Parts: sequence; structure tokens; C-alpha cells
Amino acid sequence: MKLFRGAGVRRVALLTAGLLAAGITAAFAVQGAPPIDVLYPDPQPPERIRPIALEGTRYVSTNDIARIFSATKYWRPELRKLSLRLGDHTIRFTVDAPIVLIDEVAQNLIDSPRLVQGAVYVPESVLRGLMDWGFVPNATWDEPLRAIRFRSPVHTVRQAQLWVRGRVTEVSATLLKTLSPRLIYATPSELRLLFEGGTLDSARVFSGGTVQSGTIRETTDGVEIRLVLTPGAQGYSLSVSSNRLKLAVTDDNDLVQQGIFSKLEPIALGGADGKLRTIVIDPGHGGKDLGAALPGGGAEKDAALDLARALRAALQGMVGARVLLTRDSDADLSVSRRSEIANESGGELFLSIHFDAEGLIREGGFRIYALSATPAAGAADRLPLTLGGESGAEMRPWESAQVQSAGTSIALGQTIADALARNYPQTKVSFRTGRISVLEPVAAPAVLLECGPTPRGPQAMSLQGYTIREIAKIVAQSIQEMARGGRA
Ligand SMILES: [Zn+2]
Repeated sequence: MKLFRGAGVRRVALLTAGLLAAGITAAFAVQGAPPIDVLYPDPQPPERIRPIALEGTRYVSTNDIARIFSATKYWRPELRKLSLRLGDHTIRFTVDAPIVLIDEVAQNLIDSPRLVQGAVYVPESVLRGLMDWGFVPNATWDEPLRAIRFRSPVHTVRQAQLWVRGRVTEVSATLLKTLSPRLIYATPSELRLLFEGGTLDSARVFSGGTVQSGTIRETTDGVEIRLVLTPGAQGYSLSVSSNRLKLAVTDDNDLVQQGIFSKLEPIALGGADGKLRTIVIDPGHGGKDLGAALPGGGAEKDAALDLARALRAALQGMVGARVLLTRDSDADLSVSRRSEIANESGGELFLSIHFDAEGLIREGGFRIYALSATPAAGAADRLPLTLGGESGAEMRPWESAQVQSAGTSIALGQTIADALARNYPQTKVSFRTGRISVLEPVAAPAVLLECGPTPRGPQAMSLQGYTIREIAKIVAQSIQEMARGGRA
């Protein structure tokens, strides 16, 4: 996935004779960079800020930062120092110095703040850092959307707790307004629930009774409860009444037989008979669209094709399914063509393969995406990811094809993420839902896998020493596990 358009940014120094004669140092070409959306709770309308690219790095104006986060700005022109006061915190920048003082503690910056047309610009990573460092507790950075998302100051889900009452384990919470929960899946091994658009007082971790490990947290879609169940879990019940959530699980099959609890059932891949016949693998990018530049000099398009072919071999051997590739050569396909191939071929599973060396997996690791379980209002207006290069980064109307498979896709994405995390415990693995163009029109369960090679290692494609074939095997095993009877 190319979350950054930086690859196409030329590093052009505009050195004119006049500037040189005047003894002024190089002025760099200022180019546009992908916009950042700022999303506020209703009813405040969203806004958009426009970073710039300087020498291949994306910069954000401190004027924008001050306005969005209601920070106070102090500029001392004689020292070329700019301070931002955010609540109790002070952040100080010096133009052209690769350092930032955060509450008087110095941190190094890869790129220095710059003065451009009278405004101080800081690297975009600083903007994201402000949210990651907790300086702006009411906002989060949404990387797939390139958005700053402000939370509602009123938390709609509060005081989540876990209770164990004999063979019934219950998670309860107070709801400040009527929210209807959406059950994403409820299998004998795991249960996942979403309050779309909800906000949470604080993230919590639970365990006890039939819940081996549980979390309640805010995601970009709302408040999510995920309960990993102990072996032998049989049933669940869900009720929302008088502004109270009660989500219970039990290992007592009698309660299921009596109809008090619903049965936990595995999710299976494949057709009605549980057979997985056709799998479509989509190596990202291709042709003149190289994708991300990888450490060691490789291009994402080639690594994605290598992994897709290895995965095809592994799946043919393990699952015995027909495996099609959206491209089996160095061809450039549009995003829409990729999902069309999945639908036209009757694919019962769609896997899009990407590599990246930027963003959250700059240091290596894996990100697995499924489409958000619920389409956002006005989803047709959202910005798609730059998948498939310039020509593929088109606006597409919302197609609800993937919604029918959302639960299975999320279960599959989580299964693959868990398997990768188990096999590579030192590596960062994250699973998340997002709005991803290539997955939207696909009717079958669909996930996107993004691998981050490290800058180290003997081969460009090596991920801290493990190979594409190993990754293919782990992913194929996860699919085989689900095809055999579900996430159980
Ligand atoms: Zn990519």
C-alpha cells in the first residue's frame, strides 16, 4: 500500500543566479502533499488541511496545528524559535534545527522545521506525534484515512466491567444514550461487538470465567469489545436495556439447550457446503506503478507478486482450492479491475497483498485490514487509499458488496494477525478495520495484508530474517484453519 505519494516528489533545488548572488541559501521547490481531513464530532463540519512536500518530506503549517488543536503560538523572529502551548505542554521548534523541545526535553527530528512564506512548517510526523504522545487526548490519527479524528467530549460507553457468576461471565457497561450494538461474530473461540460511532471513557482489559482475555477500546469505527473465550465456551447472550449493556458468555450447554443463551458457532469460509473452491489473490501495484520503495532497493510491486505466488503454491497444497491471481505478471491494474476479477471469478476469498516501508510499519511488521463493518454515512465522499497507483486512486461510489461478508472478513483478518503474531512474537502485528477501496466491492470475505520489511537483513524482502515463503505458509495455514470449520 502506498499511503504516501512521496515517491513521485522530485527533489528539485531552485537555485537561481539571483539567489546565489544575494548569498541566500537554496530555496526548495514546494509541492502539494495529500490533504489531511479533520473530523469533529457532530455537528461541527469537517475541515481539510493541506500539507506541503519539501525535498520529499511532508510538512504541516504550525498555523494549522495551532488552529486545530487550539494551541497558543509564540514566535520569536530574532531567534527563529516557535513555541506551541497545548494545555499544560509546551513544544518549541527552531527553524532549520533538527530538534524539538517537548516540555524542555530535547528530542531529535529527522527533518528540521522550515520557514515557508512567513509560516513555520514542521514535519508531518510531528503532527501525528502530538496525538501519539498524548498531548491531544481528544484526537487520534487515522492513518488509512489520513484524518485527525476528534472524539466527542461525552463518552457514550462507560464503566465497562466483567463479572463472573458461576458459569456465566458477563461484561456490563453504562450507555449514555441508546446505542445499538452490532455483533460482528460470535464463535466458540471469540466474540466481537461494535457500538458504531460510540466513544469510551477508558480502554480496559478483562479476564475471568469464560473470558480468557477481553478488551474494550475505541477504534475508528466506534467502541469495540473483543472477548477471547476459554475452550469449552458454548453460548452468549446480548441485551441493551435501560442504558445498560449486558454481554454474557457461558460454558454451560444447558443454558443453550434451554434457549436462554445463543449458540456460539464457528464461521466457515467457502460455499454452503463449507468447501473453499476459489481463492483470488491480488498482488498490489504493477507495471509503471512500482508501489513503495523497499529497503534494499526492491519495489513493492515485485515483492507483492512474489508473496502472491508463494501463497498460491501454499494454498493449492494445503486447501486444495483453485487459486487465481489478479495479475501474474508485471501488469498495472486499476483498483476496480482487481475487485471485478474477484467477483467475476466467483472467488470465495480475496486477499490483497502489499508491502510498505513507511508509516506504522517503517520498522518492519504486519498490518492486516478488513473493511469497516458498517459503511460510514456519506461513504461515497471519503478519500480512497492510493492503492494501485495514480490511475487506480480513483473515487468510487460506495458499493455495499463487502458488507455482507464483513463479519467473516474481520474474523479472517484477526485469525491471520493472530497467527503472524504467534509466529513472530518480536514483530509488531496489527489488525484493524478501515475504508479500503479495493475491498469494498468484493462480495466474498476479503482482507488486505501489508508487510513491512526491515531496512536490515541480507535480502531486500527479508523481514528480520524470515522469508516470503514462511509468511505465505502462515497465512495459508490460517485460511486452512478457517476453511476447516471456522474460527473455533
Ligand atoms: Zn501498496
